[in-house]
Amino acid sequence: MALIVQKFGGTSVGDIDRIKAVAKRVKAEADNGNQVAVVVSAMAGVTNRLIGYVDEIASLHDGSEYDVVVSSGEQITSGLLALALQEIGLKARSLQGWQIPVNTDEAHGKARIQSIDTDRIKECFQRGEIVVVPGFQGITPDRRLATLGRGGSDTSAVALAAALGADRCDIYTDVEGIFTADPRIVAKAHKLDKITYEEMLEMASVGAKVLQTRAVEMGMKHGVRLQVLSAFNDKPGTLVVDEDEVVEQELVSGIAYSRDEAKVTLVRVADRPGVAARIFGPLSDAHVNVDMIVQNVSKDGKATDLTFTVTRGDLKRTIDILEKNKDDLGYEQLSSDENVVKVSVIGVGMRSHAGVAQRMFSSLAEKGINIQVISTSEIKVSVLIDEASTELAVRALHSAYGLDAE
Ligand code: ADP
Ligand code: ASP
Ligand code: MG
Repeated sequence: MALIVQKFGGTSVGDIDRIKAVAKRVKAEADNGNQVAVVVSAMAGVTNRLIGYVDEIASLHDGSEYDVVVSSGEQITSGLLALALQEIGLKARSLQGWQIPVNTDEAHGKARIQSIDTDRIKECFQRGEIVVVPGFQGITPDRRLATLGRGGSDTSAVALAAALGADRCDIYTDVEGIFTADPRIVAKAHKLDKITYEEMLEMASVGAKVLQTRAVEMGMKHGVRLQVLSAFNDKPGTLVVDEDEVVEQELVSGIAYSRDEAKVTLVRVADRPGVAARIFGPLSDAHVNVDMIVQNVSKDGKATDLTFTVTRGDLKRTIDILEKNKDDLGYEQLSSDENVVKVSVIGVGMRSHAGVAQRMFSSLAEKGINIQVISTSEIKVSVLIDEASTELAVRALHSAYGLDAE
């Protein structure tokens, strides 16, 4: 008997008929004699609607109450799926994050899972029950509800698979697997049979939202057998594997983009030791993640311009913090731009091949696309460009690296 964690995303549980279809997929796995724990997302659109309600009342909101509101979408789906499973003759029980419990830290809105107690789930299994767990949610040390950040149900599923020592974690979604680029904007993208954990980690961290970054991190750390596949057909999906399981390594395995970017520029910041720490310290204390950073060389040795990016959701908080500290930081002017997108090229082959970045810059130049900020890692090059050029840039790069399907 195998133990399998299945996760179904928002579109896959988007309406009642789809929840009934999911129940049949779960039944098929149980009929094979397997123990099954199912992790579900909120029905498509629900989380956005809940966030909208919060924003209408308080744009700079209290994180703990935000989590009370936005974690509720998954609760609804978990109850509905448990009912759908019971209706087709299976024993099923939902367990909320606080009932299990799924323990997280206190970073409301982007909490990290610290541990999962599996006793109650195992008791359910002993009674022959299928367990349905709402993704995205957990409980903090002071017993407040917490959520794991957008796309966090993936992480719930992988963390649960790791805690249970599951044989497999199957992530069912609205595409057939992991592609060389988002198949919704690149028609010529093709499905990968396998991708390494490392590449998927980079792809996710630069915006390929097919898996949440932390889910990949956790799967890699705990050696979870992870695959992404369609909730709507039975085609084989994509396996996420260790590097030694991939026979032929492409130079570039994929192109990703993230629209969840905002650019902040501080004009004429004092050019002396300690200033960067004073700028980024308070942002880090407020759990704002700063991503790309460029600092110009100062012309006069006194002041310089500093540009960096944060997520759009963190922009208001960032501006608020920087304005409050203006006297201390001593910059002249603060400007921000939300019409930017980060486009990235990812591939482990970059380690051993030069010229990858150059090909990216020249392809974008050919299309007349201006690069605002650049950042690199061992297996990735990212650029920040005008949002209006997103599709053009991603498609051009997909062709330039020979990824287009014939
Ligand atoms: P779910 O609700 O099932 O979690 P998501 O919307 O979070 O689904 O993630 C699936 C989406 O990820 C796809 O619909 C697709 O548009 C997007 N996506 C972005 N990059 C990729 C990629 N490289 N491969 C597959 N899907 C991708
Ligand atoms: N419902 C949450 C979101 O939309 C979590 C998830 O779907 O993974 O971000
Ligand atoms: Mg998702």
